[in-house]
Amino acid sequence: MPPLFDNHGRKINYLRLAVTDRCNLRCFYCMPEHGIEYLPKDHLLTYEEIVRLVSLLAGMGIEKVRITGGEPFVRKDIMELFRALSRIEGIKQINLTTNGTIAGKWLPELKELGISSVNLSLDTLDPKRFHQITRRDDFENVMATFHQLIKLGIPTKINSVLMQGKNEEDLEGLVNLTRDYPVSVRFIEEMPFNGEGAKYADLHWNHIRILEAIKAIYPDLQKVPDPPFSTSSNYFIPGHQGNVGIIAAYSRTFCGTCNRIRLTAQGTIKTCLYDDGVFNIRDLMRNGATDEQIKQAFLDALNNRARNGFEAEARRLGLPASESMATIGG
Ligand code: SAM
Ligand code: SF4
Repeated sequence: MPPLFDNHGRKINYLRLAVTDRCNLRCFYCMPEHGIEYLPKDHLLTYEEIVRLVSLLAGMGIEKVRITGGEPFVRKDIMELFRALSRIEGIKQINLTTNGTIAGKWLPELKELGISSVNLSLDTLDPKRFHQITRRDDFENVMATFHQLIKLGIPTKINSVLMQGKNEEDLEGLVNLTRDYPVSVRFIEEMPFNGEGAKYADLHWNHIRILEAIKAIYPDLQKVPDPPFSTSSNYFIPGHQGNVGIIAAYSRTFCGTCNRIRLTAQGTIKTCLYDDGVFNIRDLMRNGATDEQIKQAFLDALNNRARNGFEAEARRLGLPASESMATIGG
């Protein structure tokens, strides 16, 4: 398979697929308390449409797929999609991002299907703060999922958004998960995708401050080489089983090696997290497009890709970057 490149010579081999915009949590940095206006169900890509698209993309050079959302497990029969994706030739890795509230019962089957890794979102180790952040009482369920992931030996990364006045007290406890378990804990800069727009004039917990705060606890923190295409800058604490990562998602330091495209639940191609969608592939498919026409639509999108997240944001035609992350997939 010849590799796929964008107009800036970046290799593209990774598809992030939001399978729903619905969610059973209301994380304040992602959705307003009253939720967002969900897409009508017939606007979502069907599983058949997703499988067709992923098969075509696998033939173009996509090797890795991440299932995300909204919360993937609130979509009916989501395991059908995992089963179908696991049979697509050329897809070497299937990954999942989940809030862990209802995923637990499906983990053994996901392991059997050969899932490569699971990103579990967990911003706090305190049940009260969990409620303040997610506006729901699911802390115990998420922790049960965490322990099950460890028990099953599924490679696990913890995603934590670090926020001023919300979960700063959790920094040390979250870092210490890497001491007690073989997990990677990644601290993510908060982005303005909360369904309302950014409330901060200047982001306090940027990647530099996050690093300084971790170093203040563990002065022997050591940089480790980052895997190719990594969005996180990665560190190791001597004696710990796992790594710590920092994702400069708002500062956008990693655009130069970005290897990913996104498909939203309604089939909009995004070539950058910060663009407002470049093309709706669902409509093209439902109007009877051939495989060649669909492939060409992806190539056209990649041939007009913004150089980085700042350019993508500047090119937006609609609202400023403020939509809920549940519509993008993270
Ligand atoms: N519901 C699943 C979950 O929470 O893991 C998958 C979708 S969620 C949109 C994907 C990731 O985006 C989560 O790790 C979440 O923490 C992150 N996220 C959501 N809103 C964010 C924001 N405004 N800034 C930074 N990260 C955000
Ligand atoms: Fe739901 Fe994930 Fe958004 Fe939280 S971050 S509201 S769990 S989609």
